[in-house]
Amino acid sequence: VLIDTHCHFDAAEFDADRDSEYQRARTAGVTDCVLPAVTTASFATVAAACTRYPRCLPAWGLHPMYVAEHHDADFEALRKRIETWRPVAVGEIGLDFFVRGLDPARQTLFYVEQLKIARHYELPVLLHCRKSSDLLLRELRRIRVPGGIAHAFNGSAQQAAEFIKLGFKLGFGGAFTWPRASHLQALARDLPASALVLETDAPDIPPVWVGRGRNSPAELPQIAAALARLRGITVEDLARITSENARAALPAIGSDSRDGSPPADARHA
Ligand SMILES: [Zn+2]
Repeated sequence: VLIDTHCHFDAAEFDADRDSEYQRARTAGVTDCVLPAVTTASFATVAAACTRYPRCLPAWGLHPMYVAEHHDADFEALRKRIETWRPVAVGEIGLDFFVRGLDPARQTLFYVEQLKIARHYELPVLLHCRKSSDLLLRELRRIRVPGGIAHAFNGSAQQAAEFIKLGFKLGFGGAFTWPRASHLQALARDLPASALVLETDAPDIPPVWVGRGRNSPAELPQIAAALARLRGITVEDLARITSENARAALPAIGSDSRDGSPPADARHA
């Protein structure tokens, strides 16, 4: 049992072979995938993938890298979407102070408003976190949400500890497999096991063996094996622990609740 807690499987990069990549991931032992939306336009592609593929579960949110595409009316669209199809989380939301040209004030507005939405619906959040951990944490202390995941975490050990204190798990994927990623490897090795979840962020953040190619949820077992080697535990133990952590962070995964499941008539979702 392996859970990909962050996978953009609705992305156009998979249009040509999404069915076979899904089968490849399932055959490799990936049981559940969380598909975070990035814009209101992506609600439809995420919904389509989560309707077609069993145990692909949506998160609805507005991603900071697309801040120029978001409108104030999108908050209402997000609320409506959550009420139509209850997701496993609100996401992907957050702050990106690495990519140039993304209006920081507007990013902060969208981050804060979506934290309030998550708090209102009592949903965890999936956080995009790039050169922004301290500000993300500051707002999380003010607007208490039921935890979630700091995805593709790349902050300091101190910042990791602060996220953990607030009930968050930290997502690790292909990035730590690169030989020069010594900071990430130290985090992945030394953080408490109870804080780790697995993710691919496919089609992005390919592991070293994929090189510059397209990442896929089918790479998750090899990423899990690499993390198990780093920590000196068996891949079975690693899979069990990270899956428990994923379910703790995102309780809709693997539960009997209808959260994450398509509404009765998903064609209108
Ligand atoms: Zn993402």
